[in-house]
Amino acid sequence: MADSLSKDTPLMEQPRYVGVPTFFRSPLRETLDDVDIGIVGVPFDGGVTSRPGARHGPREVRNQSTLVRMINQATGVAPHQLCRVADIGDAWVESPFELQLSHQNIEHRFHDIVDHAVVPLSVGGDHSISLPILRAVAKDQPVGMVHIDAHCDTGDDYMGSRFHHGAPFSRAVEEGLLDPKRTIQVGIRGTLNNADLWRFSHDSGMRVMYMEEFHSLGVTKTIAEIRRVVGDGPVYISFDIDCLDPAFAPGTGTPEIGGLTTLEAQLLVRGCSGLNIIGADMVEVSPPFDPAGVTALAGAGILFELLCVTSEAVAQRQSKS
Ligand code: MN
Ligand code: MN
Repeated sequence: MADSLSKDTPLMEQPRYVGVPTFFRSPLRETLDDVDIGIVGVPFDGGVTSRPGARHGPREVRNQSTLVRMINQATGVAPHQLCRVADIGDAWVESPFELQLSHQNIEHRFHDIVDHAVVPLSVGGDHSISLPILRAVAKDQPVGMVHIDAHCDTGDDYMGSRFHHGAPFSRAVEEGLLDPKRTIQVGIRGTLNNADLWRFSHDSGMRVMYMEEFHSLGVTKTIAEIRRVVGDGPVYISFDIDCLDPAFAPGTGTPEIGGLTTLEAQLLVRGCSGLNIIGADMVEVSPPFDPAGVTALAGAGILFELLCVTSEAVAQRQSKS
């Protein structure tokens, strides 16, 4: 770091309270050329079943992400040195009052991103957005998934819709986007109205790790299980902020007590280092339920961990090609 700073110093090295708040103060790019990892906001929450507000997530995560520095102290990874990282703005949702049209709008943007060989790191938005994202990143072959969440999100129809935020991954399996045998869901808990709510996960062969099993296994053995399940193939990481205990992340649509600590979540994401990551998302931060900003702060911190392991994967693929 330079000894003296001026207004010409790159934004990332300036004091963290100055400047326009892009994700991690990375450059804002209008075009997708010269970008390896595109951090993209998806401000849509038309798929929530209870408390809304996640449409405001990208802006508050951008704001809190300006506090994040450039190097991961724990792993030594410096993602902005490994890869060309840019904030590529928000996916444009043309028809926010129409759920399936909104998903088409989002899918359209992600096809553009994938066609430019940019790896997307997405910030929701509610969890329904993972389905249109997967329609783009998994268009050529089904992918594995590390899914960290209080909920399996493999539900059935709810109040006449098949595409709400409690069902993206059942739809993704049905559409041939996800390989359920290479999918692991960690942190699952909470109360149910229907004991069979997550039957799809079990019947399709996903590895479901309920919170009680995580608690008895611990982080290290859980990471080993994640790596065993997803293997060497392409893998997507989907991180729902409600995996965290409401003590750490109250600002979310479907909070459940008895959850992960922020440190446990950081360690789980770091445990994905070396996997063949082809995209990731961090969803369900709802700023209207987050008056102190702690949920957006946790989201920004996890987003940085996702950026670090994704940048390692991108750099690894680039060194082989
Ligand atoms: Mn959830
Ligand atoms: Mn979810």
